[in-house]
Order: sequence, then C-alpha cells, then structure tokens
Amino acid sequence: MKKPLVVANWKLNKTTNETRAFIEELKSYIKDVEESIEVVIAPPFTSLFTAHLATKGSNIKLSAQNVFYEDKGAFTGEISPSMLVDVGCSYVIVGHSERRQYFFETDEIINRKIKSSLKHALNVIFCIGESLKEREEGKTFEILQRQLADGLKEVTPKGLVIAYEPVWAIGTGKTATPEQAEEAHMFIREWLLSKYGVEDGNGIRVIYGGSVTPENIDSLMACHSIEGVLVGGASLKVESFAEIVNFKGRKN
Ligand code: PEP
Repeated sequence: MKKPLVVANWKLNKTTNETRAFIEELKSYIKDVEESIEVVIAPPFTSLFTAHLATKGSNIKLSAQNVFYEDKGAFTGEISPSMLVDVGCSYVIVGHSERRQYFFETDEIINRKIKSSLKHALNVIFCIGESLKEREEGKTFEILQRQLADGLKEVTPKGLVIAYEPVWAIGTGKTATPEQAEEAHMFIREWLLSKYGVEDGNGIRVIYGGSVTPENIDSLMACHSIEGVLVGGASLKVESFAEIVNFKGRKN
C-alpha cells in the first residue's frame, strides 16, 4: 500500500523565523501519524535551509516550489536541482498553475524541469488541471491528456507524483466534489497505466489539490483514487495543516 502524501505549499509566505516556529509546532501535532503519512513542506526558497535544520529528527520532508532545468551557468535568479538537493530537498513542485499563468511556463519548459529534477534524484510533484472555462467547455480530459503527454515526454516514472489541481479550485474555496476528483484521478491513472505499464503506472501516486481544508479532507481521502493532497491556504496555519495530516479513515 502506498503511503498517503500530504504536501504544504506555502507559496509566497513565511519568513525563516515563522518557518522554524511552524515546523517545531507541527512536529508535536503529528507524532502519531508520522510513520504512516508522508508529510512534505514546501516553503519559499529563502526558508529551505532553516526548514531543513528544523525538520531534522522528524520524518517531515522538504520540497521546493519551483526549479530551473539547467545545472549551472549564466541564468541570473535561477536555482538548479542539485542546489535544492544540497539544501535538503527531496521533492520539488513543477508545473503549478500559478507558474503556468503568471510566469508563462509552457508544457515544454515543465518537461525539461521534470527531467532535470528526476535526474538529480528529486521527487517531482507534477501539477496538472483544467481551468473553469475548459471544464465548462467539456475539455477537462483533453487538457489533462495534453499536459500529461507533453509534460511527461521521455520521462521515467521513478520519483514521480501527479497532483490533479483543477485551476478553478485553487485558492477559491471551491473544492472539486469527491466524484469530480475521482473521475479525473481515474482518467490520470488509466493514462499512466497505458504509458508506463501496470507496475510502474500503479506505483505513481496521484494526489488532489484545490481548496483542501480540515472540513473536506475526510471525504476527499475516502475516495479510493485520491492518494494524498496538496494544500495551499489551509497549510499556512499549523493547526489546520495538522488537522489535515491527521485526517480520519486513513487508507493504509
Ligand atoms: C495550491 O496552491 O496548490 C493549492 C491547492 O492552493 P489552495 O489549497 O489554497 O487552493
């Protein structure tokens, strides 16, 4: 059985002091589930090393929110996969809709980032999802299929996590219903099985993101196809994130 994965995406929030205090408190809240749930925190770059020190002695893992695909060189302002490993990361989020929307990341750029990160043994949380307009036009599966095919071109499955994040549910308070999420997750699983075969395709965790809260976590995690969550807003307060990590009805 795969361990459920719960990821906190802090986006552009928290100083180093706030990061340290959050993690120290979180450790005491999640003692009982540390072994059975994989907990990952994705602070901003500036807090990664502080978070690395603060998570020592716990099972909490560290993710970056972004990465560049080159290893080194004249790329002012960028951070490479090996730098993320150096600072203690074992995960990186790639293809988040905010990066696609505000920073014009294309499927091709995302594909390069995924390949480069996996090459450096970083686990990749690859985000995909349709906009409201695309859903209303009945294009959800077409969009997911394109993002998967282009993003995972020549990508091997080891270390890969897929986050289904309908864009209309991110930061809006609108969660996909468990049925909507299940339908998309099942489509993604079928796609992964056809690309990677049964063993490798089933080994990839598919998680859900989009206005996850302590109130809706139990019903989302009750869905067979949802193997974890990516949490934005509700991960900023330690109490609400801890409640999410301690969801009821664990599937392991
Ligand atoms: C996210 O940033 O990936 C996210 C899902 O945000 P929120 O939980 O705030 O919708």
